[in-house]
Amino acid sequence: MAPGMNLSLFNTLVRRKEAFQPIEQGKVRLYTCGPTVYNFAHIGNLRTYIFEDILRRTLEGCGFQVNHVMNITDVGHLESDADDGEDKMALASKREHRSPWEIARFYEEAFFADTKALHILPPTCVCRATEHIPEMQSMVQMLEKRGYTYTVDGNVYFRISKFPTYTELSRRNLDELIEGSRVEIDPRKEDPRDFVLWFSQSKFPNQVMQWDSPWGRGFPGWHIECSAMASKYLGEHIDIHCGGIDHISVHHSNEIAQSEGCFGHKWVNYWLHGEFLVIDKGKMAKSAGNFLTLKSLTDQGFDPLHYRYFCLGAHYRSQLFFSFEALTGAKNAFEALKNRAISWKLATGKGGQSDKITQYEQRFWQAMADDLDTPIALSIVWEMAKDASLHPADKWHLIRVFDKILGFDVEHFARPELPQDLDELVQQREQARHSKNWQEADAMRVQLAARGIQVKDTPEGTDWYYVYKD
Ligand code: AMP
Ligand code: ZN
Repeated sequence: MAPGMNLSLFNTLVRRKEAFQPIEQGKVRLYTCGPTVYNFAHIGNLRTYIFEDILRRTLEGCGFQVNHVMNITDVGHLESDADDGEDKMALASKREHRSPWEIARFYEEAFFADTKALHILPPTCVCRATEHIPEMQSMVQMLEKRGYTYTVDGNVYFRISKFPTYTELSRRNLDELIEGSRVEIDPRKEDPRDFVLWFSQSKFPNQVMQWDSPWGRGFPGWHIECSAMASKYLGEHIDIHCGGIDHISVHHSNEIAQSEGCFGHKWVNYWLHGEFLVIDKGKMAKSAGNFLTLKSLTDQGFDPLHYRYFCLGAHYRSQLFFSFEALTGAKNAFEALKNRAISWKLATGKGGQSDKITQYEQRFWQAMADDLDTPIALSIVWEMAKDASLHPADKWHLIRVFDKILGFDVEHFARPELPQDLDELVQQREQARHSKNWQEADAMRVQLAARGIQVKDTPEGTDWYYVYKD
């Protein structure tokens, strides 16, 4: 779209926008934390994946070749290294009368069905935690060698006091972090903020998913999977790492401690975090049980792309309040844009207003290059759509360019069904033309126009589209 444009991204590490500079010219090594697969993704999770998709498309639009790696958290214990609460995979397994392995594969598939429906580009590499246990174990051994760990009863812990820059990403003081970890009482820990790298002794001794290890039979802590898989597929120095804001103070801080402890140098240049989708002034969470999935939206007649449009209406660093009223607003806007785009596609005549086209392209691109400002980009799309001085053929050209980022797949936009009476009228008119009854055909054209339908005669028959007044 605009190779060479200056892209600026808000880096959580420094809490400001920075000009993006890749490690290797023309290439981007991108790691995004993937889903935990013991349940359907909720629409909050999906907001984060949409934000990451916009980032990926923008990087590609800048001309970068993006190597995008995403993990699948399919290891039994899942989601936190706290050895308390409940074993989410075992719980799902009991609820659904399926083995943890079946549960993991089922929800992984469901996740990719959702992301496909939302037009989220598939990562270049998807890696499952259960298939990278040896890589995690060698990383733990390396940390052990470098003196970052201690082992009690077969559990290996990361000693946070050995990593002085632990709070660099979160900017929280250590007392706050102790507060946060108070819920979890693990007497084996030297310090409540230390986290688990390998569990051999857990509250869940009957875990189905267990592996032999130098420390005893067990399973990995949650955080080590991202460090191990990111370095396997992207090397020891990566450009961008993303996730939701909830990951800043624990998961990503732990990932940094593990990776930098292991490699002995800086690991990630840019950390990007998506704000939460909130509902009824609270966060939507899988563990809370009461959450909305993509299916709960489609069951109510929404298209997944209505949700994609809804998410693009807010900047990724702003909280987004979900309500069905707001989603309906997004649906109406999306459908109106879609109908206009179809009419531009079918319109006759030639455009070619190159100055105007360039201006709109530049402004759209500047919005995206300014830390992925999708609300501004969408407002430019609408300004273009309503620009009465711009030829429909040029609008069709522009919407296809913008679509590289928007991801609506405008090429495949299909007209909505016509109400039955109008459909019949279009067919009667076609018949009239067939029998060279031009007067009657013209009268029907006027009748259709009065109902907002423009007909267009093509060698293949009659085409039609809804007309919008700008
Ligand atoms: P999980 O499957 O729980 O590991 O979450 C997948 C992704 O969704 C992570 O990047 C989380 O940070 C993110 N996430 C979780 N809850 C929300 C929410 N309510 N809004 C936006 N993103 C979220
Ligand atoms: Zn992660």
